[in-house]
Amino acid sequence: MQEDKVLEARIESLPATRPSTISRFKSLGVKTFGDLLNYFPRRYDDRSVIAPIFTLQVGDKVSIVGNVDEVKNQYLRSKLTIQTANVTDDTGSIQAVWFNQRYLPSAIKPNQKVALWGEVKLYRSKKTISPQEFEVLSDEAKKLVHVGVIVPVYQETHGLSSKTIREKALYLISLFKETEPQDTEFLPKAILDTNGLISEKVALVKIHRPDSAQDIKDARNRLAFDELFTVQLAAYLTRKHWEREKVGNGLKVGPYKKEIEAFITALPYVLTNSQTKSIDEILSDIGKTKPMNRFLQGDVGSGKTVVAAVASYVTFLNGYKTLVMAPTEILAQQHFATLSEMFKNTKVKVSLVTGNTKKILDTRYSILDTDLIVGTQALLHRTLDVKKIGLVIIDEQHRFGVKQRSALKELGINPHLLTMTATPIPRTAALTIFGELDMSIIDEMPLNRLPVKSWVVPSSKRKAAYDWIEKQISNGDQVFVICPLIDESETESLASTRAAQKEFKTLSETVFSKRKLALLHGKMKSSEKEKIMTAFKNKEIDVLVSTSVVEVGIDIPNATVILIEGSERFGLAQLHQLRGRVGRGAKQSYCLLFTSDLMPFQSPRLSYFAGHIKGIDISEFDLQHRGAGEMYGTKQHGYSDLKIATLTDYPLIAKTKEAVKSFTTLFNIDDFANLKKRIEALTVNLIARD
Ligand code: ADP
Ligand code: MG
Repeated sequence: MQEDKVLEARIESLPATRPSTISRFKSLGVKTFGDLLNYFPRRYDDRSVIAPIFTLQVGDKVSIVGNVDEVKNQYLRSKLTIQTANVTDDTGSIQAVWFNQRYLPSAIKPNQKVALWGEVKLYRSKKTISPQEFEVLSDEAKKLVHVGVIVPVYQETHGLSSKTIREKALYLISLFKETEPQDTEFLPKAILDTNGLISEKVALVKIHRPDSAQDIKDARNRLAFDELFTVQLAAYLTRKHWEREKVGNGLKVGPYKKEIEAFITALPYVLTNSQTKSIDEILSDIGKTKPMNRFLQGDVGSGKTVVAAVASYVTFLNGYKTLVMAPTEILAQQHFATLSEMFKNTKVKVSLVTGNTKKILDTRYSILDTDLIVGTQALLHRTLDVKKIGLVIIDEQHRFGVKQRSALKELGINPHLLTMTATPIPRTAALTIFGELDMSIIDEMPLNRLPVKSWVVPSSKRKAAYDWIEKQISNGDQVFVICPLIDESETESLASTRAAQKEFKTLSETVFSKRKLALLHGKMKSSEKEKIMTAFKNKEIDVLVSTSVVEVGIDIPNATVILIEGSERFGLAQLHQLRGRVGRGAKQSYCLLFTSDLMPFQSPRLSYFAGHIKGIDISEFDLQHRGAGEMYGTKQHGYSDLKIATLTDYPLIAKTKEAVKSFTTLFNIDDFANLKKRIEALTVNLIARD
């Protein structure tokens, strides 16, 4: 088989593999041999020390290799069986002891040579080894896989064991190694040499089958280089491509300076310097013929909406429409309310369109007659009169990009585009993975804000905490109670909904029996959700018990307490979003972090969170404290799909950035078919992501 054929082979063609294993691989996203080779180990166990049996000490965790002379299966008690095998090498003998592994006598036979890996223990006052892994050495030439070598450990998911993944990956490695040494290298030699990179093929072999720590380092270095290099090159090429485009409806800013000024002056507050700077950057973009591709980052509550409103006002003054898209209907509803209020003394007509109902909720204007159309992303799939759209604003998305741009193009427009996100991304990381976008950052809070006070509450203080909340409610404050995340799926699970229903019932019947409570969860109809949010906003509800659906964007300035149950189960970024639901008005707000009763220790992560208020600090902490070894094979952040590179590897980021620069000056991507294919695949991934 040729190398690229090997990589493209369907996972179904793995020999001697059960259909259930195949389908588990598929559920991990592993569909081809190439996908499996790119399913990297999370970490390694060094089992390469093969100890002479004579030297074994109690407590050692070692590999041994020897001959089996006797295998026994004994029944101890009704449910307990014990298996023993005597293993001998040139230096001595030891008994290997397993419990409840009835199949063992058929797996290991006398006179076989075996390799075992496990801990040396005292059992019935004899030195024994309790093997965690064993391998029968049927054929002398066969290399060990699970014992006696550095063993890759994979993320086990969906009932697929690391051991199975290892076996299959190693089978592929042997196949892959045998293939014709074709020239499939996708990077120019000059870049490999300058950066001391081994070939990709060797790296793929070594990542699954390292002979030394140096092998692991070299392999990771090459594969991480590839990831960071292609991400940045893709961004560069997208940016270049966008630079050649022309905006559909050109806008002018200069002639409307006075009107813009008047709008800003009429706001009930003074803009922060960051807000003003972001507005300037946006207005400078939208005065150009090249479409704007700007990413507005600002912490929760930093006031991004008003910045977007100014841009849409300028669009209106030019005689064009703005589309505002939010991720959920609740948020669309809220934007509609906020923007209507902001524009009430202007001629701007705002309307709300929802995907579900397919009708215009606010019927004051016909869509044709509306200047600012608010809705969810479903707006893009509706037939709107798009010719007059000058600006599209997308709220609470990590990034827009190729996907939205092409959707808009299909509609026949090429407008200015502004995305907003409250996910704080450290600067270097943002520049690395969002290189195609221009960035505006709001890095200060409105002056009237008091930082939210946060505490981790031990279970012994639960009652006191409830009493304290009761007092806050008496003072007219409102409270969010967030129920624990039951499982980490993209959409709310039924279990999470049930947990919230239960919590709601308990709280209604016990601690807050005298208060008005309401329940909000993701499985409710959106009209129901809206009704509850409106009632909460109108202070008809004291305590809103909710799953984490309130996570993004909701603005209820009178809510000053958020109590988060099972807080240790949330990611820091998510906790930060949740905490951002309070502290939005001038009053002091509080965040109480409850943990599951079973949590035995003080969590440094939660303590850090309680002690820091800025999103960027929290995100930096998060980046730094995920051990590099832990993240292989798992999605490391909400905002990136990197598998092996880390966004805190600043030296490698600098190197790859330099490499992109020299590549784009010295070479033409069209001469590098394999690289081009990867860049295109990456762009498709970006499209598929959100
Ligand atoms: P986010 O950036 O999270 O989307 P919002 O735009 O919802 O934040 O703003 C949060 C709250 O802050 C709103 O109630 C808004 O009216 C208010 N706000 C925005 N800018 C300022 C400012 N410069 N001074 C005081 N309050 C402000
Ligand atoms: Mg917002």
